[in-house]
Amino acid sequence: MTELRTLLIRYDEIGLKGRNRRFFENCLLNNIKRAFNGLDGVRFRLPRGRIMVDMPSPLADECAKRLAYVPGIASFSIGYPVNPDFEEMAALGIKLVEPGLRAGGELKFCVRTQRTDKTFHKTSPEINFEVGSRIMSVLSTKGLVVNIKQAEVVIEIEIGRGETVLFDHRIPGIRGLPVGCSGNVLSLLSGGIDSPVASYFMMRRGCRVHFIFFDNQPFLGRGGLDKVLKLSKILNRYQSRGRVYVVPFQDIQVAIRDHCTPENRVVLYRRLMYRIGLKVAQKIKCLALVTGESLGQVASQTLENLAAVSCVVPMSVFRPLIGMDKQEIIAQARKIGTYEISIEPAPDCCSVFMPSRPATKSRIDRLERDESKFPWQDLMQEAMDNMEVIDLDAEAGD
Ligand code: ATP
Ligand code: MG
Repeated sequence: MTELRTLLIRYDEIGLKGRNRRFFENCLLNNIKRAFNGLDGVRFRLPRGRIMVDMPSPLADECAKRLAYVPGIASFSIGYPVNPDFEEMAALGIKLVEPGLRAGGELKFCVRTQRTDKTFHKTSPEINFEVGSRIMSVLSTKGLVVNIKQAEVVIEIEIGRGETVLFDHRIPGIRGLPVGCSGNVLSLLSGGIDSPVASYFMMRRGCRVHFIFFDNQPFLGRGGLDKVLKLSKILNRYQSRGRVYVVPFQDIQVAIRDHCTPENRVVLYRRLMYRIGLKVAQKIKCLALVTGESLGQVASQTLENLAAVSCVVPMSVFRPLIGMDKQEIIAQARKIGTYEISIEPAPDCCSVFMPSRPATKSRIDRLERDESKFPWQDLMQEAMDNMEVIDLDAEAGD
């Protein structure tokens, strides 16, 4: 087989019209180029409606592995560049189909052609026939049958201007939009199962996600921060250039413990987290906050409590998991590779000084009364002054 491979990368074009489409394509192209950093000998082309990448064959598997992390890709194939010659295409088709044949069994197959070069001297159905019949003439005695509707193996041929590519399967991408085409958001990332999944969903809608973690080391040790760093590194594989903002939160928590109604503690923590989140988001030009909250999952996530938290920030707060149940969230966490880290034991800062019966229907006037009992503005400023910033790309090799 040839020593070169051509990756064919497809993206959905729904809603992509006019100038929007060029912007989307450039964004995706840049992200793929970045994902292929360090791989020598790859060459990019942009025929209409897809991205093609030529490369030496030993790189193909590594490239495929990396594409599995790039949002905005509907599917991709590892193709073989061939001459538009029926004998040559059939010979390659035979090599690809033959390993799937089982003694005594049948294998259903078909050939599908897409011809973007309309000047080519045969139509797509004619090409299907020319190549398919040549393959059949060699393999029909070994159990190969043509079945267009239920094909188990599809040999696909794309004939473009000046190039023909043949491939035998499509690998699904993670779909969505390319990171960067929607803008930046700031995700409140704890070490739990939910917030990494929420962050991933925002990346898949084209956002670059930065992370903010509220840390309570004196009470909880380094475990929480280590988990968040591991999680954010995994998440950063789907984008690049993400940062983690680590905010010391112990003084705020102690003040809330010492001055406020125990039932309101968790909602009060959350209101301070959101306020700090807002300030950081504004400073680094993020247009929304993101959390892993899901309706009714715990006491702090009732409709009343979510409203009592959101109302402290004049900024969009996105909760992509709001309507999901825990099993669905867990399945998604496994898929994106964060679940195993999330379940490592490490206490969560919201469980510190947890009251026995947290309020499920906080009243804003009572929360405000609690907040008037300690200098939260000063504590907030101090926490932000001591905030640490970690650049995830610089940490990528760990
Ligand atoms: P998760 O699994 O994401 O921790 P959870 O179901 O445990 O979620 P909570 O602990 O109530 O829920 O937290 C709700 C949301 O608040 C989290 O999804 C996260 O977005 C944010 N959050 C909670 N604790 C922290 C923290 N220490 N630092 C940053 N964000 C946090
Ligand atoms: Mg949590």
